[in-house]
Amino acid sequence: MQTRRIPNKPRFEYVTEKAYELLLEYGYDSFPISISAVLGELSGYVTCLSWNEAKPILKSEDPLHLKELNADGRVLRINGNQYLIVYDDTIDDDHHNSWTIMHEIGHVILGHLTEFDIGELSRSGLTDKEYEVLEKEAHYFAAEFLMPTAILRYFSISVEEIALLFDVSEDAAGRKYKRVFEATYMPRQYTKYENQLIRNFSKFITVGIDEAIYKGITASFSRRIKFSSFCRKCFHCHSYINDDSAEYCPYCGESIAGKRQSQGLFARFREEQELIKSSGIEHIRYRYMRDFTIENNKKITKPRICPVCLNHQIDKNTDFCHICGTSLYNKCPKDGLLASYSGSFCPFCGRKTTSGNWYSNFEKKYKYYLEYSNKVPPELIEYPYWEYVKHHSMLYNDNMLDLLSSLIYSTAFIDDNDNIYIYMDNGRTAEIVNEHINAIRVILEETDQVQDRKIEVIGGYAIQ
Ligand SMILES: [Zn+2]
Ligand SMILES: [Zn+2]
Ligand SMILES: [Zn+2]
Repeated sequence: MQTRRIPNKPRFEYVTEKAYELLLEYGYDSFPISISAVLGELSGYVTCLSWNEAKPILKSEDPLHLKELNADGRVLRINGNQYLIVYDDTIDDDHHNSWTIMHEIGHVILGHLTEFDIGELSRSGLTDKEYEVLEKEAHYFAAEFLMPTAILRYFSISVEEIALLFDVSEDAAGRKYKRVFEATYMPRQYTKYENQLIRNFSKFITVGIDEAIYKGITASFSRRIKFSSFCRKCFHCHSYINDDSAEYCPYCGESIAGKRQSQGLFARFREEQELIKSSGIEHIRYRYMRDFTIENNKKITKPRICPVCLNHQIDKNTDFCHICGTSLYNKCPKDGLLASYSGSFCPFCGRKTTSGNWYSNFEKKYKYYLEYSNKVPPELIEYPYWEYVKHHSMLYNDNMLDLLSSLIYSTAFIDDNDNIYIYMDNGRTAEIVNEHINAIRVILEETDQVQDRKIEVIGGYAIQ
């Protein structure tokens, strides 16, 4: 094999591409990524042992010389295409160890042990500079694999949420946050895989994030104490609540503290355990919003599309939809304006807000299409990336608002020949989607081959 010189600088684009390639190859569509699942996928050529496991197997007091070299983990190429990873399990920190393993997998996937004619990675066989470049690449690989920038950039997220959603340490989350949201240097759109990756995770982004964060919080006692406000479950309706200042459930109006105050410690603990085990309800974020600048550079956020009638002629002076009269602000009669558009109750006092029932109606209708698969002929299977198509039209300019608004209440299926059937709520929106069918093809083609496939729009499948 031709051996190459180790590059002078880390190849960030190449590393990102490799990380995304692997995420796509194994079809990951939710977070956090489980390291044991990854090791399972790689089991044909990667064996991973903890330092203590490796001792009797390798008949060594210090497997791969981890302690001697003061290394958290190492990877060794053993005959041909077989690799052995050993990590230091005397470090009592799951996040740290997962990261170490992912880092070592990075060395394997990036070809560090095959491309550069080095049998093992250690400082002794390499110059400091060379060693540093390979270390940085493996590190970057672990970061992109566990918390892909493409996904992070797709919605707004805090450091704490990154740690909880991707199940990484706060330290790793903080560094990632800085790099993605605060660095002046950030590669242009990364790789040809970026859209495919967003597409694969699009359903998770719509209905999986709150639950993943809640599970991240309740997984360990220390995280529960530290992060319990980031995502809670309503005692009354079991909704996930991600507004950390809320005192009342925005979805049912009940006090979040519930009846806990009056109970004894043991009863409260038991109630909490039951709540954690119960299945939660994830709510849909109304994502069709826009910031408007008003006097004194103040910003206000309003729907860019009326959720009731889909009218999108909305400007900064529109307080009520001029077609159907829906209030475009979500105001509490007592506390004034609220920032959030999710829910129908004030998170500070539990009163019903001016958005009235629109949020619950919107959500009911939206979920109706998400769960539509039992209403179509059995030979049709759900097109799993329709959420991506729905939201992707948002990235286009305002000329597409017609299409974007029509797609809100829709779903899609494919048949045996991969033909696509788009189910629309009524004849009018079906007509609009038909008019824009070429734009839909363009969006689909970014991540899928649809040239020879039929796309049919079916209207009139409104919620009963
Ligand atoms: Zn509730
Ligand atoms: Zn309206
Ligand atoms: Zn209020």
